[in-house]
Amino acid sequence: MVHMTDPDEPLVLRGRLTTFARRCGKRTCWCATGEDKHVSPALVFYEDGRTRTVTLRAGEVEQVEAAVARYDAAAEQLAAAAERGLAAFRARREANR
Ligand SMILES: [Zn+2]
Repeated sequence: MVHMTDPDEPLVLRGRLTTFARRCGKRTCWCATGEDKHVSPALVFYEDGRTRTVTLRAGEVEQVEAAVARYDAAAEQLAAAAERGLAAFRARREANR
C-alpha cells in the first residue's frame, strides 16, 4: 500500500522497540565464535498479518522511540474517547426510554 507522505507530519510508528542479536554470517568475524552476537536496536511491528523487524541505525533510535510514543498516546486517547462514547450513548438511551 502506498500512502502520500507529508514531510511536516510528525513521524508515527506502531510497534515496539527491541534489541536484536544476531550473527552476521561472516566466518572471519568475531561473532562466528563464542556467545556474543551483533546487537542492534530494532522496531518490531505487524504488517499484513506478519511480524516484521526493522533494525535501526544508531541515529534513528530516538526518533523511532518518539514516533512509537506518539502512536501509543494517540491510541490511548482514542480508546478512552470510545469508552466515554459508549457511556454517553448508553446514558442517552436510558434518558430517551
Ligand atoms: Zn559478525
